[in-house]
Amino acid sequence: MTGSSFDLVVVGAGAGGLATANRAASLGARVLVLEKGADVGGSAALSAGILWTAPDLATLWRVQPDADPVLGPLVVEGYERAVADVRAAGAEVSEPWADHLEWGLACKIDIPALFAAWSAEVRASGSLLTQVSEVELVRERGRVAGVEYTHEGRRERASAPATVLATGGFQGDPELRQAFIGHGADDIAVRSNPCSVGDGFRLGKAAGGAASRHLSAFYGHLLPSPMAVTRERLLRLTLYFSAYGVLVNRDGRRFTDESLGDEVSNQFVVRQPGRRAVLIWDERVQRERALAVPYPSGMALDRHAEATALGARAARCADLGELVDAVAGWGVDGTALAATLDGYRRFAAGEAVALDAPASSPCRLGDGGPYYALEVQPCITIPFGGLRVDGDARVLDRDGVSVPGLYAVGADAGGAQDLRYIGGLVFGFVFGRRAAEAALCRA
Ligand SMILES: Cc1cc2nc3c(=O)[nH]c(=O)nc-3n(C[C@H](O)[C@H](O)[C@H](O)COP(=O)(O)OP(=O)(O)OC[C@H]3O[C@@H](n4cnc5c(N)ncnc54)[C@H](O)[C@@H]3O)c2cc1C
Repeated sequence: MTGSSFDLVVVGAGAGGLATANRAASLGARVLVLEKGADVGGSAALSAGILWTAPDLATLWRVQPDADPVLGPLVVEGYERAVADVRAAGAEVSEPWADHLEWGLACKIDIPALFAAWSAEVRASGSLLTQVSEVELVRERGRVAGVEYTHEGRRERASAPATVLATGGFQGDPELRQAFIGHGADDIAVRSNPCSVGDGFRLGKAAGGAASRHLSAFYGHLLPSPMAVTRERLLRLTLYFSAYGVLVNRDGRRFTDESLGDEVSNQFVVRQPGRRAVLIWDERVQRERALAVPYPSGMALDRHAEATALGARAARCADLGELVDAVAGWGVDGTALAATLDGYRRFAAGEAVALDAPASSPCRLGDGGPYYALEVQPCITIPFGGLRVDGDARVLDRDGVSVPGLYAVGADAGGAQDLRYIGGLVFGFVFGRRAAEAALCRA
């Protein structure tokens, strides 16, 4: 085994890992970045590139009342700095918009340009290796003192006073999904890079780190069903507009307040019979929401037509009776569905009707057709739970004491979000910067 030493080792070269390494390099540190995949970028490279979060603390607490009291505010307060870091790297940043998912502050950033610039900065100050395997933490005298890893068939050792875990979460591991998200979550689609299988979580736990809160919550979106989830369908077939429709399970019953957002409904579908649901909407929602761009840089396309062409269970019917018959043919209880839709429409019209689930902003399911139905499946992009960390990304043990020399960022660090989603990239960027500064004692 050969050995070398660095100021900082970063495991994972996606949003959190590259942000950490770039900030450390800019502070003059010699950094080693280890990436399992053939290329850098992780899920961030597959993403829509929307850098966004809650615009202020009042909005944060409104949408995430159970968010971590330290991490949540830090991400909101660190947002503008994160945008400035993207600009400083020479990557393009769009004009901001203030209604992302109705309430978020957002801009579109050029991820390929950003990661090219950050990778070059890291390579100039140290080393960035891809196709690395079997990463293990080295522990000496009660602290994490670096890593051992395999690269090009050789076992290597890198010593460093600080190591940052940034492997992107445990969404790719059926065992961890089942353990934390619950029964059946081992059998849901993964909408992410394929390498994030919980390595950071397992390494951090083995070194004495504790798990965060919110282990059963996760971010993902509803996708058509049945449909294989391929890389090119990740963004194209995402059903962002489900918040404006009606969702029923195979018992023909509603089970969530759809207006909380597609990311919330996605989590509840995992708990429904067969882990499937049916989304129903009317012509107005089709015209104003389904066919429209979901956000300024998003794709405008007919997702119902595309899903139909791909073989998903889909129907377009002249009236609701016909639609109920079509959906009943997919194994949904037609009698219950007819009663659900009838009660829902009367509720939306102002009648006092007891619903199976609240409807805080009901769509009216207008007076005339056509009506649309699509079977949907849940998926996971990142878990909201991970390793327990403090505001400087230090991994904490069960007593809340930091594990010396160990940090976690991005989706490897958990607890900040619960049920509703307030951003993905922003967590990597904000806490990557903070981890680098804390590890190099330059906060
Ligand atoms: C289709 C899609 C669209 C999205 N759109 C957006 C969006 O518009 N806005 C937004 O905010 N978020 C978006 N996200 C989510 C966002 O991409 C993630 O939240 C973010 O990338 C997580 O950052 P991360 O650093 O934790 O993980 P990643 O960016 O996934 O990076 C983790 C890296 O670690 C590597 N790795 C894993 N295990 C190891 C190991 N043992 N050793 C070394 N390396 C390892 C992986 O290969 C990967 O490169 C989207 C995600 C997807 C999939």
